[in-house]
Amino acid sequence: MRYALIDGVKSEALPKGRGVCRVCNGEVLAKCGKFKVWHWSHKSLISCDRWWKSETDWH
Ligand SMILES: [Zn+2]
Repeated sequence: MRYALIDGVKSEALPKGRGVCRVCNGEVLAKCGKFKVWHWSHKSLISCDRWWKSETDWH
């Protein structure tokens, strides 16, 4: 997903960033590759995609 909360602030992924999913409150880690679009990924394998109808990025 593109946005997560860092200290309660909606933020885009940043290198080595840690945030909180707005939907499930699960911990998410920033994935910042050289070629891939930077995004947030759940630390655990929780999937809350069904709550993200407008979100196209994989969790
Ligand atoms: Zn989530």
